[in-house]
Amino acid sequence: MRAFDSDNVEAQPQAAPGRLLGQEISNGADDLALLGVGDGAGCSPEVDPAALAYFNHREHIAIETHEIEFPGPAAKIARQHHEPLRLQMLGRPLLGGPAAFSRIRHPSKRAPGIAFMSRPPARAFVEKWRDSARIREMQPKHHHTPRGFRNNYIESVTKSLGDVLRWQLQRIRDRLPPPAAIPTPEAPADLDFIRRNAAAGAEMTPAVTWIGHATMLVQASGLCVLTDPIFSRRASPVQFAGPARAQEPGIAMGDLPHIDVVVISHNHYDHLDRASVKALASQAGGSPLYLVPLGVKRWLEGLGITRVVELDWWDGHSVAAGGGRPVEFRFTPAQHWSGRTLRDRNRTLWGGWAAMADDFHWFFTGDTGYSRDFADVRRRLGEFDLALIAVGACLPRWFMKDQHVDLEEAVQIHLDLGAKRSVGVHWGTFALADDPLDQPIHELPAVRSAKSVSEEAFFLLPIGGTRRLSRRGDRV
Ligand SMILES: [Zn+2]
Repeated sequence: MRAFDSDNVEAQPQAAPGRLLGQEISNGADDLALLGVGDGAGCSPEVDPAALAYFNHREHIAIETHEIEFPGPAAKIARQHHEPLRLQMLGRPLLGGPAAFSRIRHPSKRAPGIAFMSRPPARAFVEKWRDSARIREMQPKHHHTPRGFRNNYIESVTKSLGDVLRWQLQRIRDRLPPPAAIPTPEAPADLDFIRRNAAAGAEMTPAVTWIGHATMLVQASGLCVLTDPIFSRRASPVQFAGPARAQEPGIAMGDLPHIDVVVISHNHYDHLDRASVKALASQAGGSPLYLVPLGVKRWLEGLGITRVVELDWWDGHSVAAGGGRPVEFRFTPAQHWSGRTLRDRNRTLWGGWAAMADDFHWFFTGDTGYSRDFADVRRRLGEFDLALIAVGACLPRWFMKDQHVDLEEAVQIHLDLGAKRSVGVHWGTFALADDPLDQPIHELPAVRSAKSVSEEAFFLLPIGGTRRLSRRGDRV
């Protein structure tokens, strides 16, 4: 065993019985490494609750987790601070290589609490303690793999380079998408109502305003929330090329009420727009709270945005609205993928968001193919008063089916979720696929009637348009 590399992490260099070993891993050949929390008589008083919290929050890089049930003082400290003691096997590719390890630095040099091991001693440690029942195997997370995240119900949605080329050639040959027969409807935003409602606290009327694409202002339970904000002219890494918006945003950035929370579904350019999240972070009155999928926090921090909480599927975060009620946000699975460059495919997570307070439950699918994930959401979280469902960018089906639903599947998701009302988003703004921008307007009526869903129950808004909804328990 090599000596512990103190440049990478502060930890106990000498192993004692019952204590985790620290070993240098930064240039080892192992795929996996283990990050643990120290224990044993020698180091237990030094276990720092901040380190435990830090460590436990990093489950996203763990592909295997074991909860340790040591009887020692470290366990007592952990219990006092409601933090479990854990051993985690990490996927090196997810961490981004040795450089990432130097970022996992113990917050205080004086208080070691985290140690690294390479895979073989980590395995031996787990094997040794398994029989003694001091280690509880935690449910392995199916969607965490050493190479990135994956979907629940399909092996891969990723198309080969050949398929991408085939699609692009067909697009050029067939001049797709066809132009829209009618422009996406627009309505002047009712800014008076939106601002009054933003200030109403507990009396807030649940309301949604479509700003364009998947950007929706949801006002409910005392909070103003934006989904996947994009106000830029193009959904692209550069502003001189890439899909340009067909419509101005329904509310200009400067006319927005104070935004309390921004939820991000995944890191594609049409959902996580650099200029928009930066501008929102410097809104008057302070940055919104950004709720993001695992792995996206670091990217936002790189832009200087610090009010960020990143979550794994099914994890929750509660936000107390000023004068309103606590709103529980949950990040939920969807069938999609992530990536902003050729090298970061599926290295950050994707998904949908549920927001639940006693007066209103709403849900945003994010981008998704049709899957059983939405039946799972309903089973675990109950029914919703409103769902924002991504429609559009769905053709050709042979290329898009696994990652973007068509209208029929979108209405099926509405039924799967048990949503009282649903609104289509992710259409009419950026031409991202072979369907014309106005396709949902023309096709929705027939799809609704085929599934016996009313016009009230699954609707589209004009850009800038607001729909007010009833609170739970209110007489409809
Ligand atoms: Zn996407």
